[in-house]
Amino acid sequence: MMRFLARHRRIINVIVIIAFIAGFVYFTIKTRDIKIGTYDSKTYSGIAFNTAIKKTIFMNDVDRRDQIDAEIDKTLREIDEKLSYRNEDSEVAFFNRNYATGGIYNFDPEIISYLKKEMEICKETDGAFCPCILPLTRLWGIEDGNNKVPSDKDIKDRLARIDYKEMEVTDEGLTLNAGNMAIDFGASGKGIAADKVYKVLSDNDVPGAIISIGGTILTYGSKGADDIWRVGIQDPRGATGDAIGAIEVGGGTFISTSGDYEKFFEVDGKRYHHILDPKTGYPADNGLISVTIATDNGLTSDAMSTACFVMGLEDGMRYAESKGADAVFVTSDKKIHLSKGLKKRFIIKAKDYEIAK
Ligand code: ADP
Ligand code: MG
Repeated sequence: MMRFLARHRRIINVIVIIAFIAGFVYFTIKTRDIKIGTYDSKTYSGIAFNTAIKKTIFMNDVDRRDQIDAEIDKTLREIDEKLSYRNEDSEVAFFNRNYATGGIYNFDPEIISYLKKEMEICKETDGAFCPCILPLTRLWGIEDGNNKVPSDKDIKDRLARIDYKEMEVTDEGLTLNAGNMAIDFGASGKGIAADKVYKVLSDNDVPGAIISIGGTILTYGSKGADDIWRVGIQDPRGATGDAIGAIEVGGGTFISTSGDYEKFFEVDGKRYHHILDPKTGYPADNGLISVTIATDNGLTSDAMSTACFVMGLEDGMRYAESKGADAVFVTSDKKIHLSKGLKKRFIIKAKDYEIAK
């Protein structure tokens, strides 16, 4: 045996060195996320914001990956509790209880920063995105499932209470001036949550992830060798998960879709859905059935998709393009309208839709 070892010492040395190097490389790739092919990935599912959450995290270190998933869940829970007007302990609920008819309330600076951004989008869209629409959505019973078509008189009464010009946001706080007003984050909360998740991913040096929070999707980093993310767009008249096509975007993109198919009821063959036109008080009825906006901020993409759905194809597309956002507008005649920059990055899948000229 000793003689065998002595005679083959060089070969044995080489084998030991090779094994050592292989072990080192394997360990490094596994724990340091070196870009070779695609990172190992895992998909986690859950519920927050009253909606389905799906997280696919690309990361070779499986233990850290599970920890990051848990941290994202915690972040989502916290921001949901903070922004929900239904959570009696939230500042938003406190504000709606005590400041509905006037007085300035000094919100937490984080909420003030969201409100400021919302007011900006609200003004730019001439109120199509309306942060104080809650009295009207309550009348329609859209949030509690108590659906009914309200009377014209009731709608008129509510219109006076959802006038954004009566809403004032400064560093000192928020004031509502028209009496019996209220705020909520229904059309922007999931986008804000996506912004928060972005921060968790970057603070933890996660290589890549795709996270969907209801109608808002965040792409982050890369899957490995491939830096492009192909994000499917829901077929507004198909089953959940059916896509009309996909857009190609880079990491760090927030993609939000607003459609007439998410929450709706029908009376006499007419569809009444959850995106309301603050000018008429009725569900937006302009031929659009879905709007997708892709941009570099979650609050913006979420609020913009709602605003553009209300504004209609022409004004909405003009607004999206002026903001440098990618946009996909789908009309009831099953035509897909793309913003200028997106034409080369859209892949159509559904046979019954066509891309508008
Ligand atoms: P989803 O919640 O299905 O992702 P949106 O982001 O478009 O869709 O938000 C729709 C929600 O926003 C509605 O359920 C309602 O609470 C609220 N909302 C409806 N119309 C408007 C509007 N014009 N401006 C702001 N919020 C609105
Ligand atoms: Mg929205």
